[in-house]
Amino acid sequence: MLKIAPDYYEITVFGAEPHPNYNRILLSPVLAGEMTIQDIILNDHAWYAEHGIQLHLGRKVSRIDRVQRRVIAEDGTEEAYDRLLLATGSNPFILPIPGNDLPGVISYRDISDTDAMIDAARRYRHAVVIGGGLLGLEAANGLKLRGMDVTVVHLADWLLERQLDQMAGRMLQKSLEDRGLTFLLGKQTGSADRR
Ligand SMILES: Cc1cc2nc3c(=O)[nH]c(=O)nc-3n(C[C@H](O)[C@H](O)[C@H](O)COP(=O)(O)OP(=O)(O)OC[C@H]3O[C@@H](n4cnc5c(N)ncnc54)[C@H](O)[C@@H]3O)c2cc1C
Repeated sequence: MLKIAPDYYEITVFGAEPHPNYNRILLSPVLAGEMTIQDIILNDHAWYAEHGIQLHLGRKVSRIDRVQRRVIAEDGTEEAYDRLLLATGSNPFILPIPGNDLPGVISYRDISDTDAMIDAARRYRHAVVIGGGLLGLEAANGLKLRGMDVTVVHLADWLLERQLDQMAGRMLQKSLEDRGLTFLLGKQTGSADRR
């Protein structure tokens, strides 16, 4: 919109997270200790100010009043709109198993999940990653680099089964095992327990 008609709209952005928009794809290098949140921020506060965009960070929108054309955040912040764009992303799928809400059970989607993993790596030794897809393997690699013993539990018989055939999956598994990761393949997680 800034490019097409910079003066047409007054733009307001609400974000539930406390940071300006960052490159989510680069969370794994942050987890692995190769980058920081500052390195992956795409547009900092100065950029928003420079472009006249009002930025409400850490404010989760909880209500849209379509009659009055207003959005209302959990903390009561309100803004009026003529056009409203929802770009709220997605939520990670959490396995519907007993124990999935225990402390220490987290998903991998944002910087707070990444910080929780970094913190866990400082305080604990053993990590289990459920899911041997791209995100699971990136998480496992990062946790390993941070000194944890990591086991990946995966439903399919080989890693990245959507991207690789069995032989390539086995080759990948071997190279990750050489880096110290452990795999449980063809296994369905029954529950999370904290003994
Ligand atoms: C670790 C990781 C690695 C990835 N790697 C790749 C990759 O290599 N290649 C690839 O193509 N994709 C990758 N993805 C997926 C990619 O990041 C997402 O597809 C992309 O971020 C989706 O962009 P989006 O703008 O739709 O949503 P998001 O990036 O999720 O942004 C939505 C934002 O809206 C905010 N929000 C939600 N609800 C509200 C509300 N009620 N009020 C205010 N704000 C709200 C959220 O907090 C979030 O900040 C990766 C994802 C992760 C987590």
